[in-house]
Amino acid sequence: MRSSAPAAARSWSSAIVEPDTRALLSAAATLQRPPRHPWAWAWLLAAAQIVGLALVWWLGWQWGLPLILGTQALVFWATLWPQSRLLSPVLVRLPACERTVWLTIDDGPSDDTAAILDLLDRHQAKACFFVVGVRAEAQPECVREMLQRGHEIGNHSYSHPEKWFWALPPRAMRAQIVRAQAVIGAIAGQPPRWFRAVVGMANPFVAAGLKPLGLTRVAWCARGFDTREADPARVVARIARGLGPGAIVLLHEGAPHGCSVAIVEAVLVHLAAQGYRCVLPATCADGAAPRAAAAG
Ligand SMILES: [Zn+2]
Repeated sequence: MRSSAPAAARSWSSAIVEPDTRALLSAAATLQRPPRHPWAWAWLLAAAQIVGLALVWWLGWQWGLPLILGTQALVFWATLWPQSRLLSPVLVRLPACERTVWLTIDDGPSDDTAAILDLLDRHQAKACFFVVGVRAEAQPECVREMLQRGHEIGNHSYSHPEKWFWALPPRAMRAQIVRAQAVIGAIAGQPPRWFRAVVGMANPFVAAGLKPLGLTRVAWCARGFDTREADPARVVARIARGLGPGAIVLLHEGAPHGCSVAIVEAVLVHLAAQGYRCVLPATCADGAAPRAAAAG
């Protein structure tokens, strides 16, 4: 697979050696927050359980039980809430931005990818595609095309187990993250630096998979539930509620309803009408002009 990646690798390399882009990448580096203490939650949870049991022993269940159950419920909530920072750092929006957003498109590559790439070109927009490892293996040329057109690639698990990702045990979780990183890195010529949890639900074992790879978890602050909602106008209306400078916008490709391309187009039209530019995090963090986003 590596032998078929040189074109993308050249494109990627040529992007990162341009002086403007290098400065912007250093700005992006300040946004990266790989987990530093991926097992801190386990120690804190264990300590809370021990204290809770001690309270039960000394003062009765009405004192200890709320602490035991409450801390377990907190970990469960943090797993299900995509923007929670309790178990690992997560990017929800970007700082210091003037009418710029970070467009993120999940679940590719798909049959929609080519049309979406054309749309992005037409709107002079840059996006980050959070791709699924097994789908990247099936359509590596789509991944290279994303890079060649100046977009970025993120890790969105190896097989996208959407029903069970939130409940995967440590070993299976690590395999999802590591295998996708290897596959995508081999195709792109550069490993991703961003990770998006499947359905946004990052359980306590995600951080341990991200740390050794230097991956930063990315959530969003604007979403339109576009995998279920086929009406572009409704998706746009929902996304509009979360928009603001530095907003991270969540979109998908290849949705079963077949309207993903129309939805992406409607969102791009809305963003342009509202005066927003779609840029990559380096540009956004630096507050730089759109020309820099197109440097890749
Ligand atoms: Zn997904």
